[in-house]
Amino acid sequence: MSATIQEEPLLTREVEEVGPPLRLGGGKSSAASDRELASLLARGYSGVHEHSAPLHSFLEHSTLVLFPFLFGVTVYLSLARLYHLDVLWSLLLAIPLGIVAGDFVSGIVHWFADTYFTEDTPIIGRSLVKPFRLHHIYPRDICTHNLVEVAGNVCILAVPVLSLCLYLLWLLPDSRWLAFKVVCVSVVAITTVATNQFHKWAHQEDPSRLARWLQRTRLVLNPSHHQRHHTAPFNLHYCITNGWLNPFLNRIKFFRRIEAFLGLFGIRPTNVRERRSH
Ligand SMILES: [Zn+2]
Ligand SMILES: [Zn+2]
Repeated sequence: MSATIQEEPLLTREVEEVGPPLRLGGGKSSAASDRELASLLARGYSGVHEHSAPLHSFLEHSTLVLFPFLFGVTVYLSLARLYHLDVLWSLLLAIPLGIVAGDFVSGIVHWFADTYFTEDTPIIGRSLVKPFRLHHIYPRDICTHNLVEVAGNVCILAVPVLSLCLYLLWLLPDSRWLAFKVVCVSVVAITTVATNQFHKWAHQEDPSRLARWLQRTRLVLNPSHHQRHHTAPFNLHYCITNGWLNPFLNRIKFFRRIEAFLGLFGIRPTNVRERRSH
């Protein structure tokens, strides 16, 4: 059985910093509530279920319904185009390329949300920055999220991208290069939409047999591998689709170099916790 994430003992201090509205116990005695709360916190749960704002929730639900339809049509049309143009073999390159690119996109978005702006930033603060920052304090809250909460946020971005792909396929019907790129983008879309599910599996206390097999084979994010991200100095292993790119990005200090480059323009990380050793 693959290992599950062992959480860092940072909860008490972080809970005080964030001041979560912990709602537990109902009619139970306060001693029982306190024990239940302590157990949840020790295991990485906040005991609070956050909900999206109404408009954001509507977008999550509607794009989650639209995504499978758009994905199916885009893949069918681009594959038919490759077949018609006699270059179906290029799938052998397009699929792995799309998976690696998906892992890279997951790393970039994760690093950006972990590092820059704050929870109060307009638009992205509540929908992007806050979930990633809270994840470091309550890593197992993600295990309580339903399909809409897991995949909806990425679908909001993936649906317009796939719509653009369909428009371009219609505009340039004879382009092999475009059909190849659309297959790559479609693979990026499906892997990034699935990323939070893989991330959720990595934090589950008892993941399914299928999830454990996929984790063992490293086709999806492995819990031990992801543990590095939740370990001081908290600034490695940002890629969370399957983590294939993490060793390479660590070696070339990819994210530190981007941060140094952005620093030249006065853009500094806002999340100092990530860089503090315990
Ligand atoms: Zn993170
Ligand atoms: Zn995590």
